[in-house]
Parts: sequence; C-alpha cells; structure tokens
Amino acid sequence: MRMCLTADIGGYYTGALEEGRDQFGLKGDFVTSPEISQVFGELCGIWYVAEWIAQGRQSKGVELIEVGPGRGTLMDDMLRTIQRFPAMANSIDAIYMVEASPELREAQKNLLCGKDAPMTESKVGYHSVCKYNALPIVWTETIKSIPIAPEKMPFIMAHEFFDALPIHAFELVSVPATQTAPPSPADTASPSTKTSHPTLQWREMLVSPTPPGSTHASLNTPASQSRDTPPPDFQLTLAKAPTRHALYLPESSPRYRALKSTVGAGALLEICPDAALYASDFAARIGGSAQHPKPKASGAALVLDYGPGDGTVPTNSLRGISRHRRVSPFAGPGLTDLSADVDFAAIAEAATRASEGVEVHGPVSQADFLQWMGIRERVDMLTRAIKDAAGTNAVEADKKVEDVKKAWTRLVDRGPGGMGKVYKALAILPENEGKRRPVGFGGDIAA
Ligand code: SAH
Repeated sequence: MRMCLTADIGGYYTGALEEGRDQFGLKGDFVTSPEISQVFGELCGIWYVAEWIAQGRQSKGVELIEVGPGRGTLMDDMLRTIQRFPAMANSIDAIYMVEASPELREAQKNLLCGKDAPMTESKVGYHSVCKYNALPIVWTETIKSIPIAPEKMPFIMAHEFFDALPIHAFELVSVPATQTAPPSPADTASPSTKTSHPTLQWREMLVSPTPPGSTHASLNTPASQSRDTPPPDFQLTLAKAPTRHALYLPESSPRYRALKSTVGAGALLEICPDAALYASDFAARIGGSAQHPKPKASGAALVLDYGPGDGTVPTNSLRGISRHRRVSPFAGPGLTDLSADVDFAAIAEAATRASEGVEVHGPVSQADFLQWMGIRERVDMLTRAIKDAAGTNAVEADKKVEDVKKAWTRLVDRGPGGMGKVYKALAILPENEGKRRPVGFGGDIAA
C-alpha cells in the first residue's frame, strides 16, 4: 500500500499518474468534502477559532498543521475564514503542510501563495509565504520533521489522510496440535505427549503476485470490481507461518486480543501502525509527553475520515478507487487510489496512551458535526449573498444557489453510503476531565 501510494519511484500520489490526470474532482478518481463545498473548510476553520477562544485566546505561538492537504483547498478555506478573526489570525506563527507528493505540494503552494511565489528548500523542507497575512508555510514529508516546542499551540487537521496510510491485515487461524511436548517427570506412562488442543494464531495476509494466466474468474474478483479492468496483478494470501508483524501487532491492544475469545478462528483484523504514530505525535504536540514535556496542554486535532466509528475493528476494508468506481485494489498498482477504513478507536487509544495531557471526543458522524457547526445557517448566508449579488442575472444566481444546496445535502446525507453517515469526526483536545465538550461534538461556543 505504501509503495503503491507514495513510493519514490512513482506512487499514486508521487508521480505515477500521467501528465494532466488528477486524483481529485469530477475528471479524477474521487471527490473530497472540501472539493464539494467551500462551506466544509469554512466550518472547520470556525472549529479552530472556537477552540482558540475556549483555550484562552493565546496571542502568539499558534501553528496550523495539515497532514495530507490534497490540492490545498481545505487550508485555503480555513485560512480565509480565520482571517475574519484578526486576533486569532495574528496569533499564528506558521503553517505546516505534511505532504508526500511533490506535485500536490506545488499545487498547494500555487493556491496558498500564488503561482509566482518562490519556494525554497532547507533541511526541514520547502518554504514559501502565504497570501494570507504573509504567513510562512513549511512543507515537510512527515510530521516528525515539524519542530515541537512547549509554548506552541498546534491546531492540526487530518482530512482523508488516515485512510491512505498502509494497513496490515490478519486472520486468526486454528493451528492443529502438532507440537510434541517433552514428557513430564511424573508421567512415566507415555514417552511423549501431544498438546491436546489446537492453538489460535494470528496470520498475516500477504500481497503476492497472481499466477501467470490468471483471470477474474480464477481469482474470484467480485463482479463489481472486474468491470473494464484487467485481472489483478496481485492477490492476498495467508502467510503459512507467523510473520514478524503477526507476532506483535495483534497483541498490541486489548481490543485486538479480545477477538480471540469473542470471535475465535476466522476473526479478521486490520491494523494501521502509521495511524498510531500520527495520533501519538498529535497527542504529544497538544498534551506533552515524557520526551516533550509541556507545562500546559494546548491546541487541538480534528480527524475527519471514514471508518466504522462504533469501536469495531475494521476488516476487509482495503479498496481500490479509480474514476469514481470501486476497482480491485490489486489491479493497476500506482494508478489506482488505495484506502482502508480508519479505526477511530485505535487513534483514540494511541493518543491517550501517548500523552496524559489529552482527551478525545467523538467520533461523531460528519452529518452531526457539520450540523452542530451550523452548516444550515452558513448555507443560508451564502445563498442570500448569491441572490443579493445577482443583479439582473437571476438565472445564473438560481443555478448557483441550487449547486450550493446540492453540495450541502451531499455532505450531510445520512442515507446508506451517504457522506454524512460514512464519514466521522474525532477531536483530540487538552485534557479537561471531559468537562468541556468541543463545539461540533455536542458543546457550545465559549462566550
Ligand atoms: N485532505 C485532502 C486530500 C486527501 S487525499 C482532501 O480532503 O481533499 C490524501 C492526501 O494525503 C494527499 O495529499 C496525499 O498526497 C497525501 N498523502 C498520502 N499518504 C501520505 C503519506 N504517507 N505522507 C504524507 N502525505 C500523504
């Protein structure tokens, strides 16, 4: 998954797509919420303003960090919104963008700094100056390259980032009792004893090449994924012996260990170690850690992505997306978007384990989050502004209003497969004994 998405030699995000082909938008492979409506990014911007107010309006040291910023649209919409709150806008020291793709980094720079703005390189990453408030923007390839300092108040955004991080998949198998145990000293009757019952062991699902001459039929590709695509080059096979990852990842959390007794043989499990690394990093920046102590926790992280969100561990969720359709994740490596369900409970667990200074709220559905953030009111304002500015061109204005309303209903659609239901929001905040619920998660804006 990592090689296919972000390999140096050309992954899906790092140069494999031919010139002129884009990941995003109608002509690309998928559409994301910030690309559907500016209102999405505006409400996320408001969320950070509300947190900045609730946490005491720190006058300097605020940082905006976005991981996986795509075309930069979300950051642009958030910054435009934050500009309307000059005291917060002036408290921002720097913007950091964690981006693996050189092409997308360039697109983000063009949007946020202007096409002609120069980009310089340093040991940390790439630098330019933002069109909003002339703020410095720094691009890095991983979050580890962003300096951590105790006086900073980091506001972190992760939208459709975690689903692109590589997963490991496991199946619990029953291993027959083949091992010969040495005879016990008391047991003189039998010279050796077989272990009497089979044991349960996690086995990793490995990606291996399909045999030459494979067809969709011989590989059992689901019908919905075989349309117009060649037979997959790779397939998943179950490892015959425990791999290194199988020995420790499924043992790393009580949630995974419980599957042995609750589900038993046949249980499936997906684990994303990189998600835990990112969640731990967010938590340490906000709440401090042994390595980076912080006298007072500050900042917030907002994670928006899709996944079960009910505490269950994702299974069988690796998918390929091409031109807005589900395809086999094993066909067209590097040319197909790959993603997997996000395990929000694992993110929450990693965050609270990494720092005693944080607490987690949610996940709540995207529909709830956006509705609590006031999407209806914002859409009303926008449609009124369109009508007021229409002048004689009422037909065009009506069309624009219709588009705004369509986008809004799409973002909050709670039907099966609807974005409002499938996508979830989770917040990591300074520890406060759960006394203050953040806005968008059932709380009110602080006065
Ligand atoms: N947040 C954007 C884009 C989502 S697509 C939106 O919602 O529109 C995923 C983004 O994460 C892309 O910008 C991709 O280049 C980036 N990305 C994927 N894997 C990454 C990794 N391992 N490290 C850094 N960036 C990554």
